Amino acid sequence: MLPGEERLLPETLSTQKGVTVNDIFEFTGDLSDSYHRKLFRDFLKSYQEDELKRLLGPRWQPRDQGGITCPGCGYRTHRRRGFRTRVVKTSRGHFHFLLAQVQCTSCGRTHRPFAGSLGIAFLRVLPELEQKAISLAVKLPYRPSSHLLEEFFRVRLSHEGIRRVVSRKATEQKIEPVSEVTNCLVDSTKVKAGTKSRGMDVHLAIAVEKGSEKHRRSVLIKSLLHLSVGDSAPLKATLKKIRPKYLVHDGELNLKGCAEKTQRCLWHMGHQLKHYLWQDGLPHKERGSFREKLCGILYGSHYTIRGAAIAYGKLINEFCRLGLYTSAGHLALAKEEIFNYRKEPNLCFTTTSPVEREMRELNRRADVGARWSQKGIENLLKILFLKRFNQY
Ligand SMILES: [Zn+2]
Repeated sequence: MLPGEERLLPETLSTQKGVTVNDIFEFTGDLSDSYHRKLFRDFLKSYQEDELKRLLGPRWQPRDQGGITCPGCGYRTHRRRGFRTRVVKTSRGHFHFLLAQVQCTSCGRTHRPFAGSLGIAFLRVLPELEQKAISLAVKLPYRPSSHLLEEFFRVRLSHEGIRRVVSRKATEQKIEPVSEVTNCLVDSTKVKAGTKSRGMDVHLAIAVEKGSEKHRRSVLIKSLLHLSVGDSAPLKATLKKIRPKYLVHDGELNLKGCAEKTQRCLWHMGHQLKHYLWQDGLPHKERGSFREKLCGILYGSHYTIRGAAIAYGKLINEFCRLGLYTSAGHLALAKEEIFNYRKEPNLCFTTTSPVEREMRELNRRADVGARWSQKGIENLLKILFLKRFNQY
């Protein structure tokens, strides 16, 4: 608060009738904002003046060969050339400030020596406002994000501007490789991107560990291992590099050699079986009982591991006998890995549901009725998950 305002404030308000608490809040907020603007400008200016004094010597006695180097010719003697006004967008509106200029005495080039060190060389939008724009944009389409930003902070960033910020941040941010991954879950989904009408695949791999218990359930600690849009080659390359101990997947991709041990998602086994039985031409009412039977073998704790494997083999034979060859193939393909979860006590996920939960977030943001570019959706989803898993 500026000197004198403490007297001005109650007087101004008491003379107006029908003043609500909201009006007082707005009014005091505006006062505080104008003080904030002044503080910001004065602080930046005095910082630069102190630095100039240190680097060039006092104004009345400038030093030759000072601490500033000319970016044009490399000469080190400069004279002061005043300040240049600049404006930056912040979450508290437009802020004006002054940027010191100096001139090289050799080549005559004028430059702003603190623009780089203060991080304001080409800055039009303050990073804190960009962060708020990103937080909105990972939840909402770009245009509503832009409108909300304007409504909340009275500053305009176009939807295209926000998209560019997201794409820049996605290029800067790397998904840090995790050294030892125990449980890795992989899933894929379609997004409306590219030129094909069905869209493109998004491949997501996350590491999941069980944390402390809350309401008698373990809190899952997730981290992003891989995200890509397009074919599955980059996913496989990442997995082969990380080489997780256990990998749970839904069987849509061939992930052989991507982990020490793989495990098919038990829920998907039954779900997919119904589809394959339909392909084999089995009537709807008969499909359910086969699914029940399979689930009984997969989850049944009364079986020993050997007993379960035998029952599983018998079910494959039964399908072959009935001429349900696609379904038999489905089971046979998963035979090697399906009971790994019973053999390995540390393999603590038998379904891909923690990654399916993330897929829901993915679809919620990606299904906005627009067609994405491959890079556009990849950038956005990368930031979305890095933020979700606190890796951003
Ligand atoms: Zn120069």
